[in-house]
Amino acid sequence: MPDAAPDFIGHPLSAVRRTLQTLLNAARIDDPPREARLLLEVATGLTAELLLRDAARLLRDDEAKRLSEALRRRLAHEPLSRIKGERGFYGRTFAVSPAVLDPRPETETLIDLVLQWVDETGGRQRPLSIIDVGTGSGCILITLLAELTHATGLATDLSPDAIAIARANAARHGVAERIAFTQARSLEGVDGLADILVSNPPYIPSADIAALDPGVRDYDPLLALDGGPDGLTVYRDIAARVGAVVPSGLIAVEVGTGQAADVAQILTNSVENRAGLPWTRKDLGGHVRTVAMLTQR
Ligand code: GLN
Repeated sequence: MPDAAPDFIGHPLSAVRRTLQTLLNAARIDDPPREARLLLEVATGLTAELLLRDAARLLRDDEAKRLSEALRRRLAHEPLSRIKGERGFYGRTFAVSPAVLDPRPETETLIDLVLQWVDETGGRQRPLSIIDVGTGSGCILITLLAELTHATGLATDLSPDAIAIARANAARHGVAERIAFTQARSLEGVDGLADILVSNPPYIPSADIAALDPGVRDYDPLLALDGGPDGLTVYRDIAARVGAVVPSGLIAVEVGTGQAADVAQILTNSVENRAGLPWTRKDLGGHVRTVAMLTQR
């Protein structure tokens, strides 16, 4: 990893773009043309269209400094969302920090499943209450509250720093009045009732963390990844209490690759008031990503 990024001051955008691609390519970062464009967007604040239109424009001093810094971080495999401090999720932009999991596109599968269930069971006008366990950036619950304008929610997280980011995201998306936060491990201390429980819990088996992609291992917080010895600890914690918290409604959780059958089994065995068997939904990559189950009084 080169620690002195090249000096871009006074070079035309087109030449800078070519240099970026060469360096990104040498660092084996996927899709250098796209990454080079995104780094230039971060450094200059220009859109993709303006970057093309103004390709002959020379990079200013401050832009070159920002670019060198962003490039240095990207070449160390820091995800671009972390360098920018924000990430798109379900059509909205969320602030991220080192204290939260970077929202992932596959988690949008969980949103789709919940919205479909709401649409099929009485519609979006109902005053639904939703609990999100391990809210992180808040992307799941805040998205649901933004889509379900009559719903209210409770978000839990063990990390006060994560809760601070989620609060800021709730304000940014206009749902701060409909969301409450509790600093807690899984459902500990939660005694209210909800219609829906959602969670994308930490689910990586502890021993697998060292072998994760460096962009995940070195930048997503360990607390957001580590699911205990077999990766299923938080699912068990949730399953032990969810029947009481959601007496009649929907449970929908994200699972890691290959975990769906185990998680379905945990829910089936632990939730006494379950209504029927769990079902699953695949993400756009074809992996089973969400497990859902109904409860009934
Ligand atoms: N709920 C957040 C997300 O899905 C955080 C999840 C986590 O930290 N494991 O992005």
